[in-house]
Amino acid sequence: MRLKRRLVTLTITGILASTLSISPAFADGIPNYPGSAALQTGAENSAVKKMQAALIELGYDIPVSNGKYGPATTRAVSKFYFENGDIDDGTSVGPLGWNEIFIALDEQRAVNKSEKEYEEATKEEVVAQLNPEQVATVIPEEQRGKQPARGASSKTLPYKMPVAGQISAVYNQKGRRWAGRRHDGIDIRAPRGTVIKAVVEGKVTFAGWQKAYGRLIILEHADGTTSWYAHMSKRVAKKGDVLMPGDTIGLVGASGHTTGSHLHFETHNANGEKTNPVTWLQSRVWKVEPATDPAAETPVTESATN
Ligand SMILES: [Zn+2]
Repeated sequence: MRLKRRLVTLTITGILASTLSISPAFADGIPNYPGSAALQTGAENSAVKKMQAALIELGYDIPVSNGKYGPATTRAVSKFYFENGDIDDGTSVGPLGWNEIFIALDEQRAVNKSEKEYEEATKEEVVAQLNPEQVATVIPEEQRGKQPARGASSKTLPYKMPVAGQISAVYNQKGRRWAGRRHDGIDIRAPRGTVIKAVVEGKVTFAGWQKAYGRLIILEHADGTTSWYAHMSKRVAKKGDVLMPGDTIGLVGASGHTTGSHLHFETHNANGEKTNPVTWLQSRVWKVEPATDPAAETPVTESATN
């Protein structure tokens, strides 16, 4: 039973590996499996050392990659299997487990690289979390809920988007490709693997696959509203996680019904009815200019320190 389950995992990760061929670690390929005798408790060799280094980079508790397959390595391997849906005592690593470890390492490196690029792209932004009373004073009435221009860069918008990219479809846009002939979210086009970040604190109440949405994560917020992140290539957050602004939700992809790589972002009110995502964002995550002179603070900047 256990072996069978591992085989299923291999098939999935094998497909994943073939579609992720552009990422850096795969350029060198997964290291060759050294054989089962080399990878069991008590063994000592360079393959164990390589695997230990990978597990350490993945955050597992091995004090040093010394090439000795001892108790700490055994525990780390067991924990790696457990976190990937398998029960195993960790006393040996087969070819499939070996591949899983290095695929996980590659995925983590891709996330880190993308996060670095995201920080670089958005480092000038200061974001104020508004409270409802502030909304009225900050957002001119004629601007409230107004859709951005199609083709606009998310960077040019005065409110923060969950991903950096180009607006490719707006809320309520007409089109035959959408159920109900209306688009019920906002689409931000970005390359596969681009990091999607939470902009408002929320708890992950759904992390899975949902028909047209593909890989989907739903966050529930303190006021009962929810925000939906669809078509991802990878989910990073897990069900039950509480995400703060800036925490990673997942990576942009093209899963589910979609014509290309983008984030479909939609919002629902506490009754589960779809709402205008622009209004939702505007009333929560207003971008402000970084204060250059503390004596010349604008009212918005002051509100950010409350
Ligand atoms: Zn969409």
